[in-house]
Amino acid sequence: MVEEFAFDSTTERRKHRNGRAGWVEVIAGSMFSGKSEELIRRLNRARIARQKVQVFKPRIDDRYSVEEIASHSGMTHISKPVMTAKELLSQIEEDTEVVGIDEGQFFDMEVIDAVNELADRGKRVIVAGLDQDYMGKPFEPMPQLLSIAEYITKTHAICVKCGQTANYSQRTFESEERVEVGATGKYEARCRTCFIPHADKPTVHE
Ligand code: ADP
Ligand code: ZN
Repeated sequence: MVEEFAFDSTTERRKHRNGRAGWVEVIAGSMFSGKSEELIRRLNRARIARQKVQVFKPRIDDRYSVEEIASHSGMTHISKPVMTAKELLSQIEEDTEVVGIDEGQFFDMEVIDAVNELADRGKRVIVAGLDQDYMGKPFEPMPQLLSIAEYITKTHAICVKCGQTANYSQRTFESEERVEVGATGKYEARCRTCFIPHADKPTVHE
């Protein structure tokens, strides 16, 4: 008899999935590039199709966190704040078909295994996140999530200085911290030419 998962005998969990494979989608880009809009659009379509959807975002600190994800253009979707990837996994209900994750760059590295496990269990997992930090460096765990994803969407903003395609999040205030929450007024979208990998003055619109 041919062993069903002979190609991957080390991954016990795959033997338990009920025949239907899930997959991983990653939406990555700079700030203001439309990641949250695109995530919310996909989640809304899944809900219209009566699929069971659960959405998570990282709780960055212990303070109160609103139970929704929001785009800069005002689109919102209900979401649960979680501290860790482990907590995210523990919240998943068995009959959930679509798992949405926003701000993927703020999760710990365990999110890679968690996302793989959910897809192995037959779920469609959609992760949105910043692929580079304010210095233009790859923002873990997004590079790892991009490598395990079946589908990748790269989103772009418009450079506020020159109007070209923007791939960078320019910090417009002094700080060496990698994580500085809040976007408007603190960051702006810039292209490769206009981006400088440290704080710059905000663009003044005439
Ligand atoms: P992200 O999640 O990537 O930060 P959002 O989905 O929250 O992006 O927001 C995208 C929206 O941001 C756009 O539809 C637009 O209304 C607004 N926006 C503000 N500044 C820019 C910019 N420089 N380029 C493109 N969109 C911008
Ligand atoms: Zn530019």
